[in-house]
Amino acid sequence: MVSNSIAVIAPTPAGDRLAQRLLDGLPNSGLWTKPRPDASPHAQTYEGPLSDLVATLWDQQDQLVFVLAVGAVVRLIAPFLTHKSQDPGIVVVDETGSLVLSLCGGHLGGADDLTRRIAALLGVSPVITSASAALDLPAVDTLGLPYGWRRGEGDWLAVAAAIAHQDPVSVTQTCGWALWQTVLPEGHPFQFVPSETAAAHLWISDRQPPPRSPQVCWHPRTLWVGVGCERGVSAALLESSIRQVLQSQGLAWEAIAGVASLDLKQDEQGLLELAQQWDWALHFFPAEQLAIQPVPNPSTVVADAVGTPSVAEAAAIAVGAVLIVEKQVFRDPSGACTVAIARAAQEYTPRPGKLYLIGTGPGALSQITPAAQAALADCDAIVGYQLYIDLIRPLLRPTQVIDARPITQEVQRAEAAIALAQRGLTVAVVSSGDCGIYGMAGLVLECLVAQGWDGQTPAVEVCPGITALQALAARVGAPLMHDFCAISLSDLLTPWPVIEQRLTAAAQADFVVALYNPRSRTRLQGIQTAVDIFRQARPKDTPVAIARSLYRDGETIHLTTLADIDVDQIDMLTVVLIGNQSTQRHGDRLVTPRGYGVRSSDT
Ligand code: SAH
Repeated sequence: MVSNSIAVIAPTPAGDRLAQRLLDGLPNSGLWTKPRPDASPHAQTYEGPLSDLVATLWDQQDQLVFVLAVGAVVRLIAPFLTHKSQDPGIVVVDETGSLVLSLCGGHLGGADDLTRRIAALLGVSPVITSASAALDLPAVDTLGLPYGWRRGEGDWLAVAAAIAHQDPVSVTQTCGWALWQTVLPEGHPFQFVPSETAAAHLWISDRQPPPRSPQVCWHPRTLWVGVGCERGVSAALLESSIRQVLQSQGLAWEAIAGVASLDLKQDEQGLLELAQQWDWALHFFPAEQLAIQPVPNPSTVVADAVGTPSVAEAAAIAVGAVLIVEKQVFRDPSGACTVAIARAAQEYTPRPGKLYLIGTGPGALSQITPAAQAALADCDAIVGYQLYIDLIRPLLRPTQVIDARPITQEVQRAEAAIALAQRGLTVAVVSSGDCGIYGMAGLVLECLVAQGWDGQTPAVEVCPGITALQALAARVGAPLMHDFCAISLSDLLTPWPVIEQRLTAAAQADFVVALYNPRSRTRLQGIQTAVDIFRQARPKDTPVAIARSLYRDGETIHLTTLADIDVDQIDMLTVVLIGNQSTQRHGDRLVTPRGYGVRSSDT
């Protein structure tokens, strides 16, 4: 989901209090409430009837969230509703925050996505009643949005109804990413063998569809328009020329990715106007770069004038696309222009892409931060190790793309996630615990930097999680009250002598120490060496906690001492905590005194 502007409308004191919990997790949101002495300092206040406020916000905001009774909201918005392609998405939250409902504009208005996000922030189940959600199918009217496709003509209602009834829907896809097809559930109604007898048709192409009914069209933006023109040519001539070329070839206007031309045209008014109006990408090339493109119709006249024998054809090819329509010349009283069309193998997307680096905590869903849950709700794709994906499965939607690779393929996983984000998707990379503690966050950032990342695109947001040592500390009491450190015993990426040096230093410096990756099936000796190092530096009765599968099914926690550690109890799902010289055991609790000097009542 790309960030929209969201108005949270909470007239009552209880609603205002609840809304404040949401603002933090909803980028670009504002809160409106009634003027009151105790109104939230972040809120804007409104006087007069609520319907006046709704009238003002209706066209300004992408989504309206009402913390109000559903019936009141229905009456309020009824007079403003026009069409689902124009109306804002409407979400209703009850004042206690136990129910979040996508009321209107579920797909095009983004209300379903926002409802999921708010539900994640409040820790409740979203109420989403659209048919596609019930069938675990992508909604046909938002299908292409993650890929930057444009909606074409169509009877959207009829096709959506056919899908809802699970009638056969024939799909023709001639270009654009087929990723959406990979998440279709068993028994979905789409047929990928063209069929004229299907109940409805879905056309995904940069071409115009054949006339069929009911049918809807999505146009991946694969077409690059090469333009050459005389100075001062009008936007109207450029538009009518491009339209004529596309129409004569059966190509779709909505499939235009952008225009390409000579760098001298960077300030060509008509061209800029048109590009802005249609939100096209612009590519300008110097004459030398255009001159080397192989084109079918070079011209010596053009070469003499601007230093390259071709502008329109050469510029369209220079974008990295294949010429499919040779140049045509058009004139009107404002001047002359040439138009050529090339097709790129991959669609252009104006979406910048986003990477969330998410720590999902030790295991239980309750230990994942609401921010991380909201981020997961935003994502088009989730990348992670299978075990961690399985742990968060209830938070995922069937329409999200899942890339679950085996544990050893960290670099491939990071690169896969970056590649998805570079194509405009919002992507989560999940690690258990904290993503930045022996997790994927650092690797993803390193890979980005190695690829020359500008720090902006794709955007990166890190969502912290509860790491294993915190989870263990919480389960056994408060052993991290004084200085502590974490050491991983895995020598896959760190030479063992370095690990041993750190163990010795930590033991001597009297840190409480958490040992991550303590022992694998092939690394048996490391943990024994580590224990020996600590036995030399600390008393034999120093408390030790050995915890396996914390906050997961089959959790075990075993308290022992340095002298009695049984390394056979330890494996890769285990974290080991060794107390410092003053760590004390009280029953099944460990405490490392901070130094307040609290005495027992009987002394
Ligand atoms: N990013 C993770 C650590 C990954 S390294 C985090 O912040 O927790 C993997 C090691 O972490 C495991 O070998 C184990 O030592 C520890 N670990 C992770 N989750 C654990 C859990 N739920 N219970 C016990 N140990 C865990």
